Amino acid sequence: MTTFAESLLRLRNAFASGKSHSVEFRISQLQSLIRLLEENEATLLNVLNQDLHKVTKLDQCFIRKEPFGVALIIAAWSHPVQLLLTPLVGAIAAGNCVVLKPSEVSVNTAALLSKLIPQYLDKDCFAVFNGGPVETRKLLQYKFDYIFYTGNSAVGKVIMKAAAEHLTPITLELGGKNPCYVDQSFNLESTVQRLVWGRFFNSGQCCICPDYVLCSEEVQEQLVPAIKQCLKKFYGEETKESADYGRIINEHHFNRLQDLLNSGQVAIGGDTDKQERYIGPTVLVDVKESDAVMQQEVFGPILPIININSMEEAIAFINRHQKPLALYVYASNTKVVNEVLEKTSSGGFCSNENMVQMTLNTLPFGGIGYSGIGMYHGKFSFDTFSHKRACLLKSPGMERFNATRYPPYNEQKLNWLLWATDVKKRDCSCQLL
Ligand code: NAD
Repeated sequence: MTTFAESLLRLRNAFASGKSHSVEFRISQLQSLIRLLEENEATLLNVLNQDLHKVTKLDQCFIRKEPFGVALIIAAWSHPVQLLLTPLVGAIAAGNCVVLKPSEVSVNTAALLSKLIPQYLDKDCFAVFNGGPVETRKLLQYKFDYIFYTGNSAVGKVIMKAAAEHLTPITLELGGKNPCYVDQSFNLESTVQRLVWGRFFNSGQCCICPDYVLCSEEVQEQLVPAIKQCLKKFYGEETKESADYGRIINEHHFNRLQDLLNSGQVAIGGDTDKQERYIGPTVLVDVKESDAVMQQEVFGPILPIININSMEEAIAFINRHQKPLALYVYASNTKVVNEVLEKTSSGGFCSNENMVQMTLNTLPFGGIGYSGIGMYHGKFSFDTFSHKRACLLKSPGMERFNATRYPPYNEQKLNWLLWATDVKKRDCSCQLL
């Protein structure tokens, strides 16, 4: 007999092979399901001793988007204004009242926002609470109608557990390690400029920064000197003096990042100044999968390069780690781009670019699994903070139309019921396209 584990493995293997992905496959399986119902109708009816459906042809049905109620928004420190206010826009647009909890780490922004928000927004509907983990955990003991959290995955689990106590719906905007595969077919100039901008923007303290590069040794030989040159172009001879280069948020993160400099070999940078919480833009080579820098999200100005021999190896590397928030591919060969897209999964995806997918309001922003649950930005924010209420409006009259659904049942009632609940086969295919 097949065990549960064996069955699950079979399904996982089938999913990994891409079998269930094509539209043709989905349609054929839905058609088979219809056949199952048609060919076994008599048997099924024999075993079903219950009402099948209701007559709905004369009713009015619609989806009503309603506010959840009182939402809690918990923000992280890396972009402390956006991470608090962008979800707030969606929550307000959908009609919710909101409790805001800025990150205590970005202490000055938290102080200013908690002063400004009550001056601009209705005090009955919007409140700001300040505090760290202790205060946040106290806040989470109360029942909210929606929780929207941005921060690391470990705390994401704390939030999810607290939400489970009240069965509160949640969005978790988390982080993780975003892989960046640089293929043999990459364009040197655009790849290097975009990569350097993305990795060292805000000193690498951004959830969708490319976290590490996967490339062959030959590609690395071209990349490293070009990155060095590009850093000079962007930040000058003395990066520390550049007005465009940031600092690490606090001592805790400075110490954490300094420890990561011991992974592999420093090819560029590696200079630090604790007093200023400065870490120079750094590239690490000879990095192994087991090194400390590969065991956590870097979230700082350090770019590890891992050598792989082929695109297939890069895909396998990506797939044996948690599904990332963002996945980047640099390649002129579109076959490579499509294959990486097809054979991996992530919250977002960019080819020959990084980070800018977040700026498009027409795209949902969010992770998958370990990198997050749910999405927002633009209209998606409104939808996130709206409950989709399924509504059916029926008149109290015309009760005779309901006669079919009440027992005792007979052939005539069944035929009438089949007509009333008829779903055209073509409807299934249309929904998928
Ligand atoms: P953080 O320390 O500011 O924590 C986030 C929030 O959680 C804060 O409001 C904090 O008070 C609260 N918190 C912290 N510890 C807690 C605990 N034990 N119990 C309850 N609440 C607690 O921010 P962080 O987690 O250091 O932020 C960096 C992480 O956030 C990275 O992993 C980054 O990738 C991720 N991030 C994700 C997004 C996104 O949109 N997906 C955006 C920015 C940052």
